[in-house]
Amino acid sequence: MKSYKIALIKGDGIGPEIIDEAVKVLDAVAVHCGFSLEYDELLMGGIAYDITGDPLPQETISGSLNADAVLFGAIGGEKWDNLPREKRPESGLLRFRKELGVYANLRPAVVYDELVNASSLKPEVVRGVDLMVVRELIGGIYFGEPKGRDENKGWNTMVYTRDEIVRIAHQAFKIAMTRNKRVCSIDKANVLDVSQLWRETVEDVAKEYPEVELTHMYVDNAAMQLIRDPKQFDVMLTGNIFGDILSDEASMLSGSIGLLPSASVGAKIGVYEPIHGSAPDIAGQGIANPIATISSASMMLRYALDENDAADRIDAAIKRALNEGYRTQDLAQFDAKEICSTSEMGSIIANYIER
Ligand code: NAD
Repeated sequence: MKSYKIALIKGDGIGPEIIDEAVKVLDAVAVHCGFSLEYDELLMGGIAYDITGDPLPQETISGSLNADAVLFGAIGGEKWDNLPREKRPESGLLRFRKELGVYANLRPAVVYDELVNASSLKPEVVRGVDLMVVRELIGGIYFGEPKGRDENKGWNTMVYTRDEIVRIAHQAFKIAMTRNKRVCSIDKANVLDVSQLWRETVEDVAKEYPEVELTHMYVDNAAMQLIRDPKQFDVMLTGNIFGDILSDEASMLSGSIGLLPSASVGAKIGVYEPIHGSAPDIAGQGIANPIATISSASMMLRYALDENDAADRIDAAIKRALNEGYRTQDLAQFDAKEICSTSEMGSIIANYIER
């Protein structure tokens, strides 16, 4: 029987509650699909600071690099907000991504039919949306040199090397091959030299994926098209800053932050996590929506472990729970038949897998 080692980082706030539900669902699907999962629980964030004095202990980095994938809850909270910057949970998370070398951020935006009314856009615009933003994460203007400021001037540099573009483009095309085989590459090639190199390089990589249809779109138009007709997109490939903005825009299509998963992947390992934070305002009350984390676990099975059948089963079980009208508090006003707790939602989804 195949066995995988998962680094489990629960973190702070609702982190432990939502990760427990993802583990419940993972265990159910593993039994069903004939593999086993071994979990290595690692500390990070405020809880790691409280116990070890460091928000990112060395064992967490080495433990994660030893695993097949990392499933991550959320970190942070007011209690740690006044610590020196390097001791804050959020600094630990940034360092963590850097140490693991995760260069691609994958952010799907899916609108469940059952929740079309939860979106701020009209139901007919969002019904059927299922897109994936593939964002370059460790290059571009956030990291380019030179950068700096003086009294009257501030400057940053948007740089991409051909190699950086090649590796993120391969990610996008590989993902498109598992989806609807369409990549839309986002740039500003009408103005920026860096975008011209981006466009040329993406076209070169595309030759290795003849089944995938490649189109290009300027970022300003993409921002508009995401609101006008989001269904036109399958995979959106972007650089760091454009993806930062567009992935947040895309996430609002689905209506609730409690639904959306993400992955940050690199050459060595991927980190799978909900897009939301530690939600201290609702922590410990058993009302957090675990679906974003359960869906992140599904991404982990698909992209890190190649267990596509198991991932499909989780996705179908989530859909079924929503279809039957089960809702956590955050979605209570959208066609709910029964309001359930965090743990009840996890059990319902796990049960649907077992059946
Ligand atoms: P947040 O995402 O934690 O919460 C924003 C709002 O959404 C809150 O009202 C919260 O109750 C709600 N919410 C979030 N997740 C939910 C869920 N699963 N179910 C139901 N409701 C949910 O953002 P915030 O309040 O700005 O930040 C809180 C803390 O989280 C801060 O310390 C911040 O730094 C940290 N944070 C961590 C991460 C991460 O770990 N990756 C990401 C963002 C923020």
